[in-house]
Amino acid sequence: MALSKLDNLYRQVIIDHSSHPHHHGSLEGSARKIELNNPTCGDVVQLHVRVEDDVITDISFDGSGCSISTASASMMTDAVIGKTVEEARELSEAFSQIVLGNELEEELEDKLGDAAMLSGVSKFPARIKCATLSWKALESALDADSGKGVAQRYHK
Ligand code: ZN
Repeated sequence: MALSKLDNLYRQVIIDHSSHPHHHGSLEGSARKIELNNPTCGDVVQLHVRVEDDVITDISFDGSGCSISTASASMMTDAVIGKTVEEARELSEAFSQIVLGNELEEELEDKLGDAAMLSGVSKFPARIKCATLSWKALESALDADSGKGVAQRYHK
């Protein structure tokens, strides 16, 4: 599978995130909830995002997906927690650039943290949607009104 062809160091970080995902679970209360499906691979992510005063104060994810989608969701939550909505959108755009194989400014790459290690996915077009699923869910959540139940969407 594609994962075995990724650089060893990157692969280890991806395996760590997929076996012990960060911010895994759900959020109580007034969190925005989005469920996004990636029919190509069968990944499902449920994202819970709490936004207060334009800052992502809490975030978690749930669902079932392949190791790349799970690792990516874990890395995404690490990258955006504590960020403003605008910064999170900027990171999401940056992430969509690296998985297309585009170079980023070093500052943006640093802000992506471990998520930048998924740039290797650009060599495996079939897995790009696995990597971007949670970021697309994040964008939907940031667009959505808070506390309106679970919105279910498809990642096309
Ligand atoms: Zn997948």
